[in-house]
Amino acid sequence: MRQWTAINMAKLARKASRATGRKGTDLPGQVARKIDQNILRKLAGRVDEVVFVSGTNGKTTTSNLIGHTLKANHIEIIHNNEGANMAAGITSAFIVQSTPQTKIAIIEIDEGSIPRVLNEMTPTKMVFTNFFRDQMDRFGEIDIMVNGIISAIQNKGIQLLLNADDPFVTRLKIASDHVTYYGMQANAYEFEQSTMNESRYCPNCGALLNYSHIHYNQLGHYTCHCGFKRETPQYEISSFTVNPFIEMTVNNTTFNMKIAGDFNAYNALAAYTVLRELGLNDESIRKGFETYTSDNGRMQYFEKGQKKALINLAKNPAGMNASIAMGEKLEESKVYVLSLNDFAADGRDTSWIYDADFEKLNEQTIEAIIVTGSRAEELQLRLKLAEVTAPIILEKDIHKATAMTMDYNSFTVAIPNYTSLAPMLEQLNRSFKEVD
Ligand SMILES: [Zn+2]
Repeated sequence: MRQWTAINMAKLARKASRATGRKGTDLPGQVARKIDQNILRKLAGRVDEVVFVSGTNGKTTTSNLIGHTLKANHIEIIHNNEGANMAAGITSAFIVQSTPQTKIAIIEIDEGSIPRVLNEMTPTKMVFTNFFRDQMDRFGEIDIMVNGIISAIQNKGIQLLLNADDPFVTRLKIASDHVTYYGMQANAYEFEQSTMNESRYCPNCGALLNYSHIHYNQLGHYTCHCGFKRETPQYEISSFTVNPFIEMTVNNTTFNMKIAGDFNAYNALAAYTVLRELGLNDESIRKGFETYTSDNGRMQYFEKGQKKALINLAKNPAGMNASIAMGEKLEESKVYVLSLNDFAADGRDTSWIYDADFEKLNEQTIEAIIVTGSRAEELQLRLKLAEVTAPIILEKDIHKATAMTMDYNSFTVAIPNYTSLAPMLEQLNRSFKEVD
């Protein structure tokens, strides 16, 4: 009765919250937890697998990739994909998304919330991405946090899926008898070396670790005289490229992904490890891995029929140069739509466009460049000064300008500045829905 009340009160709270225009992510959980303190344990008991995804960076991408791939295989899941990764948000996800058919929960969890949530429920699997110190103030905080996680999870029969390349993450192995490792071969990819002096000390004995290879920060291939070492991964990336999307080979299978950013290869590998351990084969994983893209206008990809598009926000010279470089990596002919607004949120001063390398556009095959936004004329002038040879079309309405790119067979490269992003993204979503 108490459980029934808790769940129904929570659902009412969600409705009330939505009616007032709030997103209502945490509220149902907060309400249910007040009525029934054991609610999370009871709800979690209804599914067969609960996978916790944690670590300093990459947990959202990792859990979204897992969630998307399971859904692509018609597997119903509970997933706290609104970034609600503390106790109340996790409870909300179970309340709002549970159906009698749901057997798997994918839960992104804040590292700091692990001890508290583990008091209330026990996951079947936990995957850890990495532990970086950059968000922590004091030296030694990683050790304290890792030790806290070890006490919370040990002797509970949880399968741990660990990044073998991160010594801090590998340290967790002492908390379980069932550990699966993932990692990257030494010459898989050349990361831009971080200049940050990350501590590369053995989490077991405190001595300086001996590295035969460093990917970046403390991630790499290491040993210590005390016996602590990088464990042999069961799932390993032998090589990957970023062009502009990740194409990676894990064990012997290659995936052509639609996500960018070299560090995301680790997140994809973490997701792959979870999916394999959940019983999916490479072909099932491919269904998700080759269709997942971001949804926030950062390197977001669209494809339907023969038409393809890519949108990437650029609000300063570095962002614009990166977006133009991204276009350069696409082999096909392109149609660009560039937008420049000068509203308060953009900064009224748009002179930064003179510091961006529009001259580089001449190294690409471009069918047309459409300029748009409240300062479209200024972009047009800038392109003329850059002696761009492609035809330049001026259309101040962002929706119309974006829609125009659909008339071309070429690959659409959409580059909005800050306040141009929403209308451009809205139009791309609309246009790609309409493509037959
Ligand atoms: Zn050691």
